[in-house]
Order: sequence, then structure tokens, then C-alpha cells
Amino acid sequence: MTHKMFWDDPYLTQLDTTITSVSRQTVQVAQTIFYAFSGGQESDTGTLGGYPVIQAHKTEQNDILYRLSENHTLQVGDSVTMTIDWQRRYRLMRLHFAAEIILELMYQHQPGIQKIGAHIAEDKSRIDFEWGANISLFFPTVYEKAQTLIRANQPIRSEFTDKTTERRCWDIAGFARVACGGTHLKTTGEVGTINLKRKNIGKGKERIEIYLVDA
Ligand SMILES: [Zn+2]
Repeated sequence: MTHKMFWDDPYLTQLDTTITSVSRQTVQVAQTIFYAFSGGQESDTGTLGGYPVIQAHKTEQNDILYRLSENHTLQVGDSVTMTIDWQRRYRLMRLHFAAEIILELMYQHQPGIQKIGAHIAEDKSRIDFEWGANISLFFPTVYEKAQTLIRANQPIRSEFTDKTTERRCWDIAGFARVACGGTHLKTTGEVGTINLKRKNIGKGKERIEIYLVDA
């Protein structure tokens, strides 16, 4: 199984690794820093052995497959350098953790509220809820609490809860411990100032969009 270095150190932007399998355009590597779409967090972009990665795919068996252009010449055993677009990844990490904080505060503020979807992109993250009223009524309270936690620059601990099945969680002392296999920041302060927007996405369905203010 591909060793996922993006969990050991989510701040790595370049990695030397080895090709372990090749099937036409699809290759696998021994270790990886290149995140593949999972848990709502979009895939990284970047290169492998100098070739742009067209698609990163996480399999049911928790392996990661990388699709390269047709003309690639990589073979099993080749040493390759992997690079990711760090500007994109860091925005994904900041927007991901902003969403983690907002979701947790929503649960704490309104126990029983149901999340029905979430997505983390480079420009914004969003969380969808089953909720029959205007969700922005929660914004003043939730926003203030979120920015207080962010300003406090608390450490975020990430670890395995089950190494065999690769289940992971993050933890902020005195705030929450939440299951998630995404790439997480080291401190809450890195999120920076955020902005919340409300969208109605259908009867009884509300969306919170989260933006980074300083970028
Ligand atoms: Zn997460």
C-alpha cells in the first residue's frame, strides 16, 4: 500500500519516491505527498517524474492511483520526484480546517443538526445541512467563536485511530476530537480570517460557504 506521507507531514511539497506499478497511464508509488480526493477535500495538482498528474484516485483498498499523460515512459523501479502545487494545497488545508471548526461549532450550538454534504475547493469550502430555517441566524455566534479559536492559535493534533484501516482523527484540547482523513493544519491560527455566506439550496436545505478573507 502507498505510504501516505501527506499524513506524516502535510507540509511537504516535494518528495523522492519509487514507481511500484505501471498500467498504461496509471502508476503507483511507494510513498506519496499527493492527496487524492477523499472526505470532500479535492485532489492536489502537481507532477510525478516531470509529468503532470491528470488525475489522482483513491481506491476502495485505500491505495492511490495517479494517471499521467499517454506519452509517459515511467517504469516499475524508477526513482522519481513528486511535487505538489503548495499554494493550492495550503488553501485547501486552511479552507478544510475552517470548515472543520464551523461544523463542530454548529454541532455544539445546535445539537442534532444534520450535515448532508461538504466540499473543500481552492476558492471556498462548503457544508450543507438539513435545516428548515435561515442558517445565517447562527452566524453571529458561530463566527465569533470560530475567530476566537483561530486567534488563540491552538495546536491541532492529528493521529491514527486505527492504523490498519487508516482511520484518522484531529484533536484540539478542550474543543473537539473528530474523525477525518484529510490533511490538517498544525495550528488554528493558520486558518486566518474567514467569511461566511449562506445559500438556500432547496427546501429544507441550507449551505454555509466559507471563504478566506486575506487571499
Ligand atoms: Zn478534516
